[in-house]
Amino acid sequence: MIYKNKFCTVINCIDGRVQLPVINFLKNYFDAEFVDSITEPGPIKIMTERKSKLKLESIYNKINISLDKHNSVGMGVVGHFNCAGNPVSKDKQIEQIKKSVLILKKTYPNINIIGLWVNRKWEVSRVNT
Ligand SMILES: [Zn+2]
Repeated sequence: MIYKNKFCTVINCIDGRVQLPVINFLKNYFDAEFVDSITEPGPIKIMTERKSKLKLESIYNKINISLDKHNSVGMGVVGHFNCAGNPVSKDKQIEQIKKSVLILKKTYPNINIIGLWVNRKWEVSRVNT
């Protein structure tokens, strides 16, 4: 097999239960072979509450490496059921996902950015943004 080295990027939770479902979804969605993973516990909480400048800078540094060095073609930002790092309702998380996508689109207007929700069966779906 010859690889095209086509990458996409995900801003995901550290939670082991969501890794493979999210990677498989994004590989298929962006027709990419590889998914660069940027993980924090409850990243949509960090992105939207903006309380830690250090954590935000760390996330953006990682995104920039994925975009610049791997020419990533798209980005996903993820919230999920039973998140230990972000123990709020699904409704609240959907709101945070939408807001995270908007924030990221301002910084990266030329990248296709989507929001994802992972449910209690560890199934992935797109959030309308
Ligand atoms: Zn989580």
